[in-house]
Amino acid sequence: MDNLAPQCREAILEIKPYVPGKPIEEVQRELGIQDVVKLASNENPLGPSPEAVLALREAVEKIHFYPDGTCYYLKEALAAKLGVTPDKLIIGNGTDEILKLLAEAFVNPGEEIVVADPTFSEYEFAAQVMGGRAIKVPCRDFRHDLTAMAEAITSRTRLVFICNPNNPTGTIVEQDELDAFLAKVPTNVLVVIDEAYNEYVTSPAYPDSLAYVRSGRPNVIVLRTFSKIYGLAGLRVGYGISQPEIIHALNRVREPFNVNFLAQVAATAALKDEIHVAKSREINREGKEFLYRELEALGLQFIPTEANFIFVDVGRDSREVFNRLLRKGVIVRTGDIFGYPTFLRITIGTPRQNQRLIASLREVLS
Ligand SMILES: *Cc1c(COP(=O)(O)O)cnc(C)c1O
Repeated sequence: MDNLAPQCREAILEIKPYVPGKPIEEVQRELGIQDVVKLASNENPLGPSPEAVLALREAVEKIHFYPDGTCYYLKEALAAKLGVTPDKLIIGNGTDEILKLLAEAFVNPGEEIVVADPTFSEYEFAAQVMGGRAIKVPCRDFRHDLTAMAEAITSRTRLVFICNPNNPTGTIVEQDELDAFLAKVPTNVLVVIDEAYNEYVTSPAYPDSLAYVRSGRPNVIVLRTFSKIYGLAGLRVGYGISQPEIIHALNRVREPFNVNFLAQVAATAALKDEIHVAKSREINREGKEFLYRELEALGLQFIPTEANFIFVDVGRDSREVFNRLLRKGVIVRTGDIFGYPTFLRITIGTPRQNQRLIASLREVLS
């Protein structure tokens, strides 16, 4: 008998583990601090939609049933809101799942995806799981360089990811840039426009990406989520909008009950709660103004943001600043994982949280 251990697929050896925001409970446990503020994962500081919570209270009595594998009611509600037919929708266990479905359905081993650098790491992860490779195109002035991204497309390219607004920079791709880019992309390359933060955008130049789908463009999928402004990150619901042919391909690799029952109920209720969305947008706008002012007063450079987080240059190894903030009970994110070791990515919080962050940052930096 030989004594070889089971060998995993070689393709997955390259995968770097995802670095999540540190959970509040972990900081409480490890540092013995009770009052902890998490500004690390771009969650809604106002919490979930109260309408969603109300709907969940009733729904919890029915969790012995399997969920509706088609997400009928959620799709109906989304279709009505977005002005598309339900056959153009796919719902996922978070947008993360849809990223993986995209790779499973479209990327063969050795094939390529094109992404910006820095951007959300899950695009590369999904491609790597399938034995694909990410071609990383450096940002210009912290923005997607769509000219260079178009030039990076080859016969091996299957997917191009545009994170809009971009995580971690908070910058956007504008309508005219995106129009020009799409005109250059071969129709057999699927362009994935990830709009996880679209509800926070204030720029009038932000693209109407759904118009591409409505007009029948064959190679665009728009991704959105209930994890950010709708405050349902813990339940995991994201969705994609594309042509029925693309949706069919994704459904082939989707598990039959991928979106749990409570998630469907909460998302459907949250979608109708426009008051909560409006409040969340407003508190973000106020927080952004406050943080811009205070960061400037601290003499720190930052990238103006269209999202609910700010990419800030602290001018020194940000892991040190991160650790010292942690001991004051404030969790943020370091930029090293994005290739920017002097940056922090900070979620915009409530006024109290923002004040606490700035006070802590002032002490740590002085
Ligand atoms: C937070 C985020 C998502 C949402 O992920 P979920 O799996 O839906 O929670 C998607 N894309 C980006 C860029 C994000 O920052």
